[in-house]
Amino acid sequence: MRGSVNWGKNSDKTSIEAGRGESVKFQTKAIHSHQKPDKETGAVVTPIVTTTTFAVKEPGAPAEYDYARVSTPTRKALEQCFADLEGGKRCLALASGCSAMHLILQLLNPGDLVLAEEDLYGGTHRLLKHLEKVQKIRVKNVDFSNLSQVKKSLSNEVKMIWLESPTNPLLKVCDISAIAGAKPKEALLVVDSTFASPYFQRPLDLGADIVIHSATKYIGGHSDCLAGLIVFNKEDLKEKFVFFNKTIGPVLSPFDSYLLLRSLKTLSLRMERHEQNALQTAYFLEEQARVEKVLHPGLSSHPNYATAKKQMTGFGGVLSFFIQGGQKQAISFLKSLRIFTLAESLGAVESLAEHPLTMTHGSHASPSITENLIRLSVGLEDIEDIKEDLKQALNRTRF
Ligand SMILES: *Cc1c(COP(=O)(O)O)cnc(C)c1O
Repeated sequence: MRGSVNWGKNSDKTSIEAGRGESVKFQTKAIHSHQKPDKETGAVVTPIVTTTTFAVKEPGAPAEYDYARVSTPTRKALEQCFADLEGGKRCLALASGCSAMHLILQLLNPGDLVLAEEDLYGGTHRLLKHLEKVQKIRVKNVDFSNLSQVKKSLSNEVKMIWLESPTNPLLKVCDISAIAGAKPKEALLVVDSTFASPYFQRPLDLGADIVIHSATKYIGGHSDCLAGLIVFNKEDLKEKFVFFNKTIGPVLSPFDSYLLLRSLKTLSLRMERHEQNALQTAYFLEEQARVEKVLHPGLSSHPNYATAKKQMTGFGGVLSFFIQGGQKQAISFLKSLRIFTLAESLGAVESLAEHPLTMTHGSHASPSITENLIRLSVGLEDIEDIKEDLKQALNRTRF
């Protein structure tokens, strides 16, 4: 049966080449794309190949593999499968989301202007600030959910646009195709799609040039693997990224590549349940007297609900809310939780809760990240237990 599926032919291409298996659906690709049984042994699971070096036939002759920093089989299988899922031609698997972001920002020269969303992952703000100092790039933050403000800032000077959608932690949604249509031609549109995963959003289809994921989150999905993924289509980008990768070397290990291949097989199932649980949680919180406001793109009360419906096939599993009171109430609530773990990060099977102002966004917090803002990553536990936990924590909080 598998022989009849068209995966594209790329056995003789470099690490980041990938065929497009457009003939089958997402979940089938996630399980089979570029993961054919091993020719020699028949092993159904892609092997973890640990070798760092490869025998070559002749000095200087082109070889599929020569040294593992450049390309290695387990990582290559992941890169090709993920490119298929994201609807792109090329993918690179990196050691973390931050190293993936850093690699993309290496495209910029001193003086280049980046227009960046103002509500970003805290580490993205830190990286941009750092590169303003050492790489002499210029960064301007704007609210990309406000299109008229964005249009005013889109001058020809802009070399890169950095979006996150949905954003962290305010869950704003930016209209990717409208921004792609309005941007100067030369400017690269980069979308951090970590909160959506390719199952709910495919930014390349909407006009983005580069998609980046912290695969540490939904793609890994089990809080046991730090990784980043970049997907793109343009050939000139491929040359640059291959060079950076070879020269700087922030690549993903064979074992972690295997973990992500394994996780991808259940990504769609997990995303669907994350979303169901998050929506149920959002509805539940909206009804609580001690909750001032709930932020989730799947709520019709969300200001970007229409955009989210247009460009996403699901709304994701992260939500934030404002609890009545201030920091004292927020901390007291967080410490009263029993099933939710008080921890940074998101997107895994276990529910996590955190306080953005003091944990993930401290030094980069915008005025909207207030003392009473709480972020939840809703996991895959039974929804009744999740609601019960939130209820008892609200009851135990002193208002
Ligand atoms: C976590 C995260 C990152 C950074 O990824 P790491 O894998 O932790 O290095 C980047 N962007 C977003 C939206 C994130 O949530």
